[in-house]
Amino acid sequence: MPINKEAYYQIKSELDGKAVLVAVSKTKTVEDILALYQEGQRDFGENYVQELVDKQPLLPADIRWHFIGHLQSNKVKYIISFVHLIQGVDSLKLLKEIAKQAAKVGRVIDVLLQVHIAQEETKFGLDADELSQLLLEFRSTPSDWSNVRVRGLMGMASFSDDQAVVKSEFAQLKALFDQHFTPGDFLSMGMSGDYQLAVNEGSTMVRVGSLLFGKRG
Ligand SMILES: *Cc1c(COP(=O)(O)O)cnc(C)c1O
Repeated sequence: MPINKEAYYQIKSELDGKAVLVAVSKTKTVEDILALYQEGQRDFGENYVQELVDKQPLLPADIRWHFIGHLQSNKVKYIISFVHLIQGVDSLKLLKEIAKQAAKVGRVIDVLLQVHIAQEETKFGLDADELSQLLLEFRSTPSDWSNVRVRGLMGMASFSDDQAVVKSEFAQLKALFDQHFTPGDFLSMGMSGDYQLAVNEGSTMVRVGSLLFGKRG
């Protein structure tokens, strides 16, 4: 399927440098990714380890790969040598594994913590208390963490047509971000259906897939 260049330039102009656009290319071909790359896009997001590992060597080395979904600890090692930002860390166990693998390859890895803001039960993520707990643990033992930097938060709103619900979930996440992070850090929220709302609520990173690449099969 051809990429939607019109949507790409539309989104870019709407974001106007206020938020980073991560093009979510899961299930999409190397050719589609290259087509968007040729328009200037460099940040791409994937959420299946095997798929990312298969595609990465076939694509330009200056792509910034974001891992955007739930990551199993035992798979960290497969992406650690090249991943740019791991979005979706929701346990200390995973954070420890990232630190361990990052040390092995001599890298410092940036991560975002995933917070559960949606009503739906199935989504991964920390609640507000777990977030505070994890950050307390992380920040009180800096010498354990020389290979990991927690750079902000990521969240997904409910799949709802009710704008008020989505808006309030984003506002909730923004409040947690302001409580725990500084403006140079990243607040990753907003997808194809709600990125404008997210940016209005303070998002500094949006993850857009289907608007750019078409619906996933
Ligand atoms: C698939 C996915 C997206 C992109 O969703 P679209 O609705 O296609 O824009 C964003 N974030 C995460 C975590 C995803 O898994």
